Amino acid sequence: MRIICVAGARPNYMKVKPVMDALEAAGAEVVLVHTGQHYDAAMNDVFFTELGIRRPDHFLQVGSASQAVQTGRVMAAFEPLAAELRPDVVVVVGDVNSTLGCALVAAKSGALLAHVEAGLRSRDWDMPEEVNRVVTDRLSDYLFAPSADAVDNLRAEGYRPDQIHLAGNVMVDTLLANLDRALASDVLSRLGLSRGGYALVTLHRPANVDDPGALATLLSALDEVAQACPIVLPAHPRAAGQLRAHGLSQRVQVIAPAGYLDFVALQASARLVLTDSGGVQEETTVLGVPCLTLRDNTERPVTLTEGTNQLVGRDRERIVKTALSVLDAPPLRRCPALWDGRAGQRIAATLLSGGGAAGHPRPTDLSS
Ligand code: UDP
Repeated sequence: MRIICVAGARPNYMKVKPVMDALEAAGAEVVLVHTGQHYDAAMNDVFFTELGIRRPDHFLQVGSASQAVQTGRVMAAFEPLAAELRPDVVVVVGDVNSTLGCALVAAKSGALLAHVEAGLRSRDWDMPEEVNRVVTDRLSDYLFAPSADAVDNLRAEGYRPDQIHLAGNVMVDTLLANLDRALASDVLSRLGLSRGGYALVTLHRPANVDDPGALATLLSALDEVAQACPIVLPAHPRAAGQLRAHGLSQRVQVIAPAGYLDFVALQASARLVLTDSGGVQEETTVLGVPCLTLRDNTERPVTLTEGTNQLVGRDRERIVKTALSVLDAPPLRRCPALWDGRAGQRIAATLLSGGGAAGHPRPTDLSS
């Protein structure tokens, strides 16, 4: 069986690696296609090196662009490649523009399409990622859900039961496989931090970093939290310029984007994490570290009900008040079912057995 696995941006690499490994271990021919949505050393190369991902077989070089231009470039570059390779299955992960672009091409190419991380819904149509999730699921033959709430969403949208597979969380596979190496990182001493003595912050969602008013409110809240607990903030490239333009207190240490092992080490030893990242909500749950999500909604509600996450939105007082109370009384560690390090193996087993591959999706609400 020939299977194309697609990766394009930072949060894809840790999701695609366990699926590729499990497919290859079971004897499948895996072709790794890198779209080039992220391409520099800090957002790309470090992950290939640290996670031991082999060199991509094909590199599409789409680069940065607007939503439509980037998605269009992915499609235009992937279409001839899919025609040449004639894969049996195309595997896309997550919710970035590369996911959607390759899904659209695969669905028209005759290959079966598998979406890893299917069924997540923020129900916030202003998020580009939500559009990518919903449309990718609609195009997919195999829907690999990370958690029971995602299965419920897919059922409610009318997908056939044989398309939906509760596989667990592939990002957790990579976290657990690399945790010991991450804990050996010397990043804390390099940054002058002590275990349990700082808060870790990431910000990159357009609603937070592209709107100067929203960003100013968030940074003012972070400044106040930093008076109680110093902050380290690895800055995503899309936020770095805006962060530099604001005068942050010296207790907020802005650094370059961290490599994977350093970032996991920073999460594991943080007293508190404040973030708008999807993956970080999941990783903090598994690590048992308190997480405050700087958004009004999450597509990962299982981290609220069975993890360490709380939604705090963008209101300054609410962020500061909740942060101070969590610093005083952190939540207990809990872990959702099947976030056990074996999601990639379950996905490979389903794909290689051909289960649920009865053709393109016919949601029951449309076919009835
Ligand atoms: N991450 C990293 N370095 C950083 C910030 C995040 O290695 O400076 C990792 C993090 O551990 C997680 C992934 O990147 O595995 C999450 O990616 P991101 O927040 O960019 O995207 P999202 O999850 O919001 O789609």
